Amino acid sequence: MFENSQRTELLALGEFGLIDHLSAHFNAKLPSTALGIGDDAALIDIGEEYLAISSDCLIEGVHFDLTYTPLKHLGFKTVVVGISDIIAMNVKPEQVLINIALSNRFSLEAIEELYEGVRLACEKYNVDLIGGDTTSSRSGLMLSVTAMGRGHKNHVVKRSGAKHTDLLVVTGDVGGAYMGLQILEREKRVFLEHNTMQPDLEPFDYIVGRQLKPEARIDILDILKELNIKPTSMIDISDGIASEIHQLGKASNIGFDIYEEKLPIDAQTIDTAVSFDLNPSIVALNGGEDFELLMTIPIEFFENIKSHPDFTIIGHVTEFPMTFKLNTRAGNAFDIQAQGWQHIKKD
Ligand code: ADP
Ligand code: MG
Repeated sequence: MFENSQRTELLALGEFGLIDHLSAHFNAKLPSTALGIGDDAALIDIGEEYLAISSDCLIEGVHFDLTYTPLKHLGFKTVVVGISDIIAMNVKPEQVLINIALSNRFSLEAIEELYEGVRLACEKYNVDLIGGDTTSSRSGLMLSVTAMGRGHKNHVVKRSGAKHTDLLVVTGDVGGAYMGLQILEREKRVFLEHNTMQPDLEPFDYIVGRQLKPEARIDILDILKELNIKPTSMIDISDGIASEIHQLGKASNIGFDIYEEKLPIDAQTIDTAVSFDLNPSIVALNGGEDFELLMTIPIEFFENIKSHPDFTIIGHVTEFPMTFKLNTRAGNAFDIQAQGWQHIKKD
């Protein structure tokens, strides 16, 4: 199947290069596989509707650090990470399965905490936990979540439908989860050095909350319906806008122009970024894990969304494939690199 004769470093490919390399050898052959690898969720033809299905891993030391992540929050976040990809298909998530690998380091009470978070999220987002697997791990806690939901065939939104002149729209605000992580990492270092003081996270409550207990934007599905808007393409922001526009651009064969002054950034995110000597716009473009939605919307809906509190128009689609420009406040234009998008490279 693969004809590599020598050792190739994964570093050379990055996460998305690796996925492309592997998936090239797996063309979907069943008529029921309506959409395979390459979107937020796969689509299975189940008759009148599609079943959208997607899975994600959360690994201790990579995706979470238990020194500052309460297990209840981790359980909640696991469900959010899973269902966010279903929501990004314009589909209401309905069921999740959760696999867990753990060691004797954890007590029953600790795992109960984790599952209390899972339960809270299942209640809040109206999804059922319907299964999973429990096994042992010798190297930390690992979670995997599979989420699914059914959507009418005409309502499902892929990454591949963006058209020239469409508006690029983001929900909520971005960059907060990344700055929350920077605060938690800083306080962890201080704690390890001095081993006494409990950190005061109060001044950073919003961004720390964005990191530890993100919300899934299930509410946006109803709002879009009420406004009678079907996005032409959509993705959830797990790796950062810079990465996600590359995914939309690749799937739709288009480019984007983004306007720096339009990026929706919370005041706490801005203040914290500045105190870390970071440019808030770079943080907004490259910070991941906000789990907001990024979508393209036909320009005729401009009036419907231009002053809607849940949406911000940050740019528009261009006809130049895979060309992503940031128009700065100072009037310059820069290429947007997908800095945050290759975990394997980053590590
Ligand atoms: P997301 O960030 O939305 O969770 P990913 O970037 O993780 O999406 O994945 C992109 C696409 O590649 C998805 O369709 C996903 O199902 C697929 N994919 C990722 N890893 C693998 C793998 N190991 N085997 C097959 N498909 C994969
Ligand atoms: Mg996604």
